[in-house]
Amino acid sequence: MQIAFGKVGSTAKPVEVSSKGVTLHGTLQKSGHHQVVLDARLTGSLDLHCDRCGNAYNYQMDTELKLKLSDLLSEDKDDLDIIEFLDGTIDLLYILESEITSVQSTYHYCRSCDGNDETLEIEF
Ligand SMILES: [Zn+2]
Repeated sequence: MQIAFGKVGSTAKPVEVSSKGVTLHGTLQKSGHHQVVLDARLTGSLDLHCDRCGNAYNYQMDTELKLKLSDLLSEDKDDLDIIEFLDGTIDLLYILESEITSVQSTYHYCRSCDGNDETLEIEF
């Protein structure tokens, strides 16, 4: 889902996009000159592989996502919450897939291994 920067106004615009079983739904709203705020929620389930036992498991995703989007190079390089779309087109699928990738690339344990540092005991 791609939205032209100029099409986003000061009235919240509902958006929704899905990829790999995860849905991003929320709003885009102009918040200033060359700046749009994405206020969204990521929900769905993602197949992950446990970094401890290697088993595939299903991760239920339900996360808030608030980002600032700009069509200009950000002057504040320390603000990591700004995503730049220099061609003036907001690519929501790109944002969603980046979020999915960041979840997949962080260290994660399945339910059996979670909170279980030493042994492979499974709690029933
Ligand atoms: Zn595990």
